[in-house]
Amino acid sequence: MHELGLCEAILHRVEERAGHRPVARVRVRVGRLHHVHPEAFEQSFSIAAVGGVAEEAVAELVLVPVRAGCRACGAETEADEQVLACPACGSVEVEITAGDELTLESIEYVAVASPAEA
Ligand SMILES: [Zn+2]
Repeated sequence: MHELGLCEAILHRVEERAGHRPVARVRVRVGRLHHVHPEAFEQSFSIAAVGGVAEEAVAELVLVPVRAGCRACGAETEADEQVLACPACGSVEVEITAGDELTLESIEYVAVASPAEA
């Protein structure tokens, strides 16, 4: 289950940014090329988060479609998986322009009574 490794990488970045602040919600943008399944992602996140600042956090997964531009005819394609050939002209000279991102988009922290924020 590669979602677990992915969640561990994400949580590593979350913990770097959060310090000791408890995390309420994490939003992650993941390109379709990573073949992440939302259910597996959710499970992996809760496993990987145990004992850390994001233990109680809700993970929000935003799947980014794969986009490709054709060098031969200029057509733009959007798909749920790897684009190997241009659907308009059949050329294999396609350039993937989106779909492999792995971005920690936002972190929301649990509101605490003390205004002392690090
Ligand atoms: Zn084309």
